[in-house]
Amino acid sequence: VSQIRTTVVLVAAAALVAGLSGCAGDPAPGAEGSDGAPVQVAASFYPVQWLAEQVGGPAVEVVSLTPEGVEPHDVALDAGSLEAVAAADAVLYLGAGFQPDVERAVADAGDGTVTADLLQAEGIELLAADAGLGKEPLQGGKDPHVWLDPVLMAAMVPDVVDALSEADPDGADGYRQRGEQVTSALEELDGDLGSQLTDCEVTTIVTSHAAFGYLADRYGLEQLPIAGVSPDDQPSAATLKEIAAAASEAGVTTVFFEDVLPPDLAETVASEIGADVDLLSALEFDPAASIGPDEDYLSVMRDNGRRLNSGLTCA
Ligand SMILES: [Zn+2]
Repeated sequence: VSQIRTTVVLVAAAALVAGLSGCAGDPAPGAEGSDGAPVQVAASFYPVQWLAEQVGGPAVEVVSLTPEGVEPHDVALDAGSLEAVAAADAVLYLGAGFQPDVERAVADAGDGTVTADLLQAEGIELLAADAGLGKEPLQGGKDPHVWLDPVLMAAMVPDVVDALSEADPDGADGYRQRGEQVTSALEELDGDLGSQLTDCEVTTIVTSHAAFGYLADRYGLEQLPIAGVSPDDQPSAATLKEIAAAASEAGVTTVFFEDVLPPDLAETVASEIGADVDLLSALEFDPAASIGPDEDYLSVMRDNGRRLNSGLTCA
């Protein structure tokens, strides 16, 4: 049955694409934003969705291709997400093999669809994925978690502005202005995190999975992940003992676990060394759904900053 349904959706998608390319001779395809109907944007997962919403404002309607509650690493796109790509004026995503299904859908998108791999933005320099444990790093063994560094989030903003402006040229002024606003907000966040993470007695963050490499790198910290780059990697008891020993050596007094991952491994390590546990969010899920309705990228990053400031005993 699912085979038949997939075929039907693909045929429908192909018809839509054919319909779109049929309009290729029109003067301004995809300029819906100024005509009243919002520009349709498909964003690969939450941090990209947040950027698209901030830059797009009321001119866009953003859908996330990663269904709520589904782990974004290596997501399998469902029929609804494939339809969203087919219907999108612009598709924004992170490439390099972060979500291969998204990249396949992007490759199949019609000529009328603007697509942007935000990892190609100027200023993005990928770090090596944490050694050993990770089973799903990017191509070339790189770490995908760029969104946890506000400086790298800001580096992606111009590409979001460009993509939306290409899809909706009449809205370009609005995208540029909102792009400047979100850049300022990200710069302010970076400044605040910088001061919160200064003069820390402990400089090692023990985390549930290796999501915090870019954040650690930005603010002079080191991460000690309990699992690898992917949350699916489960460490052995011997590995947990090694992590606990390294954490103890680094003077760790708080072991962090992630909002959406079970805290048991963090609790095991923490009890081994007499540390507390606290929460961090890797922002791989929409915090409005996973944490609370008023939460977004900025509020959760600020909360992460407060918890790190306290857990690492910073100035
Ligand atoms: Zn991750």
